[in-house]
Amino acid sequence: MPAEIVRENPARRAEIVGRVPVADAAGVDRAVRAAADRQRSWREVPAGERAAVLLRAADAVEAMLPGTAVLLARETGKPLADCAGELRFSVAYLRWAAARAPAAYADRETDDAAGRLVLRRRPYGVVAAITPWNAPVILALLKVGPALAAGNTAVVKPSPLAPLAVTRVLAAFPPGLVHVVHGGAEAGGALVGHSSVHRVAFTGGAAAGRAIGAAAPAALTPAVLELGGNDPVVLLDDADLSDAAMDRLVMASFATAGQVCMAAKRLYAPRSRLAEVREAYLAAAERALVLGDPLTEGTTVGPVVSAAAAERVRALIADSAERGTVTGLGAVRVDLERGHFVRPALVTDVADDAPVVAEEQFGPVVPLLPYDTEDEAVARANAGELGLGASVWSADEERAFAFARRFEAGFTFVNTHNRTGMALHAPFGGVKRSGHGREYGVEGLLEYVQTCAVHAPAAFRAGGGGMDAGAYPL
Ligand code: NAD
Repeated sequence: MPAEIVRENPARRAEIVGRVPVADAAGVDRAVRAAADRQRSWREVPAGERAAVLLRAADAVEAMLPGTAVLLARETGKPLADCAGELRFSVAYLRWAAARAPAAYADRETDDAAGRLVLRRRPYGVVAAITPWNAPVILALLKVGPALAAGNTAVVKPSPLAPLAVTRVLAAFPPGLVHVVHGGAEAGGALVGHSSVHRVAFTGGAAAGRAIGAAAPAALTPAVLELGGNDPVVLLDDADLSDAAMDRLVMASFATAGQVCMAAKRLYAPRSRLAEVREAYLAAAERALVLGDPLTEGTTVGPVVSAAAAERVRALIADSAERGTVTGLGAVRVDLERGHFVRPALVTDVADDAPVVAEEQFGPVVPLLPYDTEDEAVARANAGELGLGASVWSADEERAFAFARRFEAGFTFVNTHNRTGMALHAPFGGVKRSGHGREYGVEGLLEYVQTCAVHAPAAFRAGGGGMDAGAYPL
C-alpha cells in the first residue's frame, strides 16, 4: 500500500474526496503503546464519568452531523439521507450505551450460606477495532462506545474505502482514548497481532474474517467477528403485499445499493402467489428506486463503492442473465458512466445453486424464488454456511414468530428486513459462518469486559468452622 490513501468519490470518477496517511508497523505500534499507557489511568475513572464521555461525544457528533453526512456520502456513494440516518443512529447508540453501561458493568455481589462472592467486570485493556466501509461510523462506534465505557482504550483501523468521516467522528472523543490508524490488510494484521492488544472486534467479509480469525487466536487474543450474510426472506402465503410493505421489502434489498451485511438477499415467495408478488414488487421498485448521485435530492440508490465492486456485480448479473431472467428496476437519473453505477436488478427463473442465490451478492441485484411448502422454504433458507439475518412476512404475527424460530439466523425480522428492523436494545450478530459475538443491546456491551470473581467461602470466614482442605464444597 502507498504511504497515503487517496479516496475518490465513487459517484464522480477522479473527484478526490480526501487523503489519509497510511500507518506502517511502527505507526501501529506507537498507537497501541499510547493506547495501553492511557488505559492504565482510564480504567480507574469512575464508570459514571466514563459514560459521560460518550454523552459528550454524542453531542459533538450531533453538532457536526450535516457536514459529516455529506463527507460520508461523498466517500461511500451512499445517498445523503442514508448517511444522515447512520449518523443519527450513531448518536442515539452512544446515548443508549452511556445510559446502560454503568449498570451493565457494575460489580455484582452475593453474600449467603455459600460465602461472599463479588463479580467484577474487568476491561480487557486495548481493543483493536477493524471496520468495513459500508457503515463506517456506526460500526466503529458500536465497538469504541462500549469499549471506552468499560474502561478500555481503542485503536481503530477503518476501511481504506471510507476513512474520512469516521476519523472526523472519532476526534470527538478526548485525546488518547481512541487512536486511528489507516491502511489495509497490512496495518490490520499488525494491529491484530500486536502483543499489547487484548481484544479484537472485527466487522467485514469472509476473507478478512478468516485471516483475523486465525491471527487473533494465534496471538491468544479473543476476537468478536461480525461477518457477511446471505439473508433469506420468506413471504408466507398470507403476507401483506400492500404498497407500504412492498416498498419496505424493495429497500431492504437495495439500500446502500445492496451493500449491507443484513440486506434482504434471497426472496422466497409461495408458488401460488409468485406472479402477484412479482407484479407488486416491480411496482414498488418503480416507486422506491431512483439511481442517482448520492447528493441529489430524491436519490435512493447510489453507485457501488469501487470499480472492482462494479465489475464483480456486473459479472454476477451477466451470469444470472445466462441462467434466468434479469429485469432492470426503478428510475435511472444519472449518466451510468460518471461513476460506479449499477442499475438495480431482479433475477427470476434461477435455481438455488446460481451464484446470485448461493453467495452473498453484496450489490444491487436480488433473486425471487418460488417455494411449494413451508418445510421446503425453511430448508432452502437455511442452506449454506451463512446465518446472519432472515425475515418472515405474514399477516399473522403469531404464525410469523413461530416460523422465525426455524431460521438459522442471528437476527430474524418480522414484516420488515434490514435497517428498518434494527433496535438499539436488540443484540445483532451471526450464527454459523456469519461470525460470533454480538453488537447492540446489553450483550454488545458485555463483549468488552471479562468477569472476574473474588470469593470468600463460608467455611473460612469468621465463625465459619473450617472444612476439610481437600474437599470440594457443595
Ligand atoms: P473487508 O472484509 O474487505 O474489510 C473489512 C476491514 O478489514 C477493512 O478495514 C480492511 O482493510 C480490513 N482487512 C482486510 N484484510 C485484512 C487482514 N488480512 N487483516 C486485518 N484486516 C484486514 O470488508 P468490506 O468490503 O469493507 O465490507 C463488506 C463485508 O463486510 C461484507 O461481507 C459484509 O457482509 C460485511 N459486513 C458485516 C457486518 C455485520 O455486522 N456482520 C456489517 C457490515 C458489513
